[in-house]
Amino acid sequence: MSEPILSIKGLTKVYGSGQEALKGVDLDIMPGEIFALLGPNGAGKTTLISIVCGIVTASGGTVTVAGHDNRTHFRAARTLVGLVPQELTTDAFETVWATVSFSRGLFGKPRDDKKIEDILRRLSLWDKRKAKMMELSGGMKRRVMIAKALSHEPALLFLDEPTAGVDVELRRDMWEMVRKLRADGTTVVLTTHYIEEAEEMADRVGVIRQGELVALGDKAELMQRMGKKTLKIALD
Ligand code: ATP
Repeated sequence: MSEPILSIKGLTKVYGSGQEALKGVDLDIMPGEIFALLGPNGAGKTTLISIVCGIVTASGGTVTVAGHDNRTHFRAARTLVGLVPQELTTDAFETVWATVSFSRGLFGKPRDDKKIEDILRRLSLWDKRKAKMMELSGGMKRRVMIAKALSHEPALLFLDEPTAGVDVELRRDMWEMVRKLRADGTTVVLTTHYIEEAEEMADRVGVIRQGELVALGDKAELMQRMGKKTLKIALD
């Protein structure tokens, strides 16, 4: 059996306000899997992702990405993860190409036009490469956010509530994107409030509630063991 690409052990986070956002989370993510972290508002999903991506520091526990501890080997661990945050973080006046290419540079990766072209083609953005961000539809902007997150070729991609507040069509588009990523062998961790979304996209599902992982398992097995109804209650 292969080694986990991400290994989280005893992860805790207490914010300065005294808010205990994570209370000792253990989680392993295997290469190539699509993992959905389900949880209601305030459960700790964004905190967990932010710690793995080096945006927030943990209060306790360890995070190891492909064998690199994200505290002692921060740069190596950080370069291995890509993050698509909840909010769009692009410059309206910048082109698609420049947005993605610049993002690669931020990670200290050498310029590689072929790599950027590959990523844009994978996300069906090649024809839009010269378009300014402000000229794109909401769905296209979200695709650029994914392209940006993939620009430095991370081993693991995080999507933080990729479909929060979007319409049905955009949601389907996002599901389609994730399926494509899976077909390319990208490991994906996504957070969501929606059981249907986890069911649709993930191989394995974890349910987080008030900073604790209250259920974890293979999607089908979890749905069968807990039933949708119980899972829904866990999310309320
Ligand atoms: P949502 O689905 O609403 O995005 P979430 O599951 O991502 O929620 P987090 O954003 O990780 O949850 O928040 C977990 C808890 O930590 C919440 O109680 C939240 O209020 C608190 N929290 C998050 N960020 C901070 C912060 N910077 N300072 C203080 N408390 C915070």
